[in-house]
Amino acid sequence: MSELTLNDRYQQVNLRLHQACLQAKRSPDSVQLLAVSKTKPLSAIAQLYQAGQRHFGENYVQEAIDKFDNANLPEAQWHFIGPLQSNKTRAIAERFHWVHTVDRLKIARRLSEQRPDNLPALNLLIQVNISDDPAKAGVALAEVGALAKAIVELPRVTLRGLMTITAQGLTETELSGQFRQLKNAQSALMSDYPSCTEVSMGMSADFELAIACGATQVRVGSDLFGPREQPNPSIQQKG
Ligand SMILES: *Cc1c(COP(=O)(O)O)cnc(C)c1O
Repeated sequence: MSELTLNDRYQQVNLRLHQACLQAKRSPDSVQLLAVSKTKPLSAIAQLYQAGQRHFGENYVQEAIDKFDNANLPEAQWHFIGPLQSNKTRAIAERFHWVHTVDRLKIARRLSEQRPDNLPALNLLIQVNISDDPAKAGVALAEVGALAKAIVELPRVTLRGLMTITAQGLTETELSGQFRQLKNAQSALMSDYPSCTEVSMGMSADFELAIACGATQVRVGSDLFGPREQPNPSIQQKG
């Protein structure tokens, strides 16, 4: 693995994504690869951009902004996928294109109020705690409808679908059950709100299964960039 270059790993991940789509009888265009670049330098992001990647996921606001300020990647789409704190919403509203981790109305309202008028609406996903894991953020499935109903009333943001981070240590059967539950919830949501086309689920270890279960965005970090040197508290912690 360590002998592989970043471009090799990018090719491998794209190949896996294509094969998972073929196996699931889905068009490869129906799944977007998010390159999760937390803790990785801007040079690695720029290299993937050169290779054609456009969607990048970041977890830490200040780290992301330090990269943006030095980046000249005009077509990059930045996705915020970390825990959301009220005092960080302005920076997110001003700099990101997507936010995957919305789990309360207060945060969505702040993002809406703080989204600059000259930018297109900010794309929001509701984070669902599909594994009912006490260590994870996200609303229960039963709460999605009420939160969605309130969010779609807000200006400057567009509700685009659902996201989840599944618990660790699940069997493949449990995992696919939970992925399918999230996909079903998104389908139901889309029948009320047609903009809710997205299901963000699946990471390095399980993105093929997520694609088989209907993911439209997969978030891949370590299999693309190599293992992270720093621990990754945000996967475990609540915002
Ligand atoms: C870090 C992270 C990922 C990527 O995880 P890998 O296992 O490295 O692919 C995906 N989603 C979220 C929310 C993350 O924090």
